[in-house]
Amino acid sequence: MDIARARPPSLDKLLESPALRELAQAHGRAGVLAAARDALDAWRGDTSQPFDNAQFEQRCRTQLESRAALNLRPVFNLTGTVLHTNLGRALLPQEAIDAVTALMGQAGNLEYDLASGARGDRDDHIEGLLRELTGAEAATVVNNNAAAVLLVLAALAEKKEVIVSRGELIEIGGAFRIPDIMRRANAKLVEVGTTNRTHLRDFEAAIGAKTALVMKVHASNYAIDGFVASAPLAELAALCKGKGVPMAEDLGSGSLIEMTRWGLPAEPTPQQSIAAGVNVVTFSGDKLLGGPQAGLIVGDKDLLAKIKKNPLKRALRLDKMTIAALEAVLKLYRDPDRLAQRLPTLRLLTRPQAEIQALAERVMAAVAKALGEGAVVQVLPCKSQIGSGSLPVDRLPSACIAIGAPPGAKRAGSFPDRLAAALRALPRPVIGRVVEGQLRLDLRCLDGETQEAAFIEQLARLTPLRG
Ligand SMILES: *Cc1c(COP(=O)(O)O)cnc(C)c1O
Repeated sequence: MDIARARPPSLDKLLESPALRELAQAHGRAGVLAAARDALDAWRGDTSQPFDNAQFEQRCRTQLESRAALNLRPVFNLTGTVLHTNLGRALLPQEAIDAVTALMGQAGNLEYDLASGARGDRDDHIEGLLRELTGAEAATVVNNNAAAVLLVLAALAEKKEVIVSRGELIEIGGAFRIPDIMRRANAKLVEVGTTNRTHLRDFEAAIGAKTALVMKVHASNYAIDGFVASAPLAELAALCKGKGVPMAEDLGSGSLIEMTRWGLPAEPTPQQSIAAGVNVVTFSGDKLLGGPQAGLIVGDKDLLAKIKKNPLKRALRLDKMTIAALEAVLKLYRDPDRLAQRLPTLRLLTRPQAEIQALAERVMAAVAKALGEGAVVQVLPCKSQIGSGSLPVDRLPSACIAIGAPPGAKRAGSFPDRLAAALRALPRPVIGRVVEGQLRLDLRCLDGETQEAAFIEQLARLTPLRG
């Protein structure tokens, strides 16, 4: 048969078929038309095959379904980093998810005062809680902590000097650098001290008529050790008070509760800073606090009034979804005894090693079965990280599934990367880490029976690795 002459029916005819009509119901006529054209082009590009109607319809369906699937979707975070910025940081508690869901399809009192019937302020849903939890006089919230720092500097130090220790001129991932943010806020950075040592007298000598702010920045993602010194917080705050210059502190993560309570390493809290006399404190909503992405600003009433009045506040304001989630998360902090069960971030960080180990042993069999002869699978102890610049040097004992190439395998060198790619191609992508020639899946964040079952179930779809 002359294959080139096995012509398909006309496009109009094809679109009239029951299968394509059904697809048009689900995906719209325009989408089906585009998919049909693509499928015809694909057939024309491969003249070795006669036109096949079933294959044509399947091509259309596959293209339409893959286009309809959401690009942003859940993954399994088995990287061992609990607060993974690239994977969306903190997981919200059910209370916050419910609050967001309830509000999204309906009108709400976002900026409306129900008592008076007059216009309200969106900060009102959060401010009282933040005052209660941190001991500060006033509070506001913006899009993230980088925005909070920018706003504080723009509102309090425009065209004036801000004194920062050389040991705290940090860069956070994603191109957030203290000197750059200063420039953008139109504030002049005055560096004092040295990389490893900055004393109270360095600040004292630098404070002058042009000083708008003394700023302390939490080193977050690095630690220096050895011959180091920094000015104690309370002494620095007292010096600033004596000189009549406000003091700001960027805590970065900032936990609202003592982490040592759960055997975790100590992390400074905003309430400690406020008690020490710091005038404005900024911290993230989605790091150790375990809430949505947000930047929280707490401190003195007069300074917060200036901050709220700055036009940048309007540009950086939170949306209602975030406010709903943040209010629900902050309310959980009123009952610290139950926090570790209710707040996913804390639950994951405090998960006992023995529990993760037992989970790893259960899941290992399923992984070994899915990979068959093609891999060597074992359970190994490992260390998880908190992530997002929180407590950078401390590690949490955990357990992982370590997967390596079988002895004598061809292309063993590329094995972990090929396996990692296959796991990322699953319906719910699995993200691990390649370490020492193995792919390692830290199971700390595989939380609950439903997730465990979902993880195991989709392993059956793992495409075999070609050696
Ligand atoms: C993480 C961090 C920031 C940025 O916070 P985002 O909420 O990610 O914008 C700023 N400063 C410090 C010290 C941090 O650790």
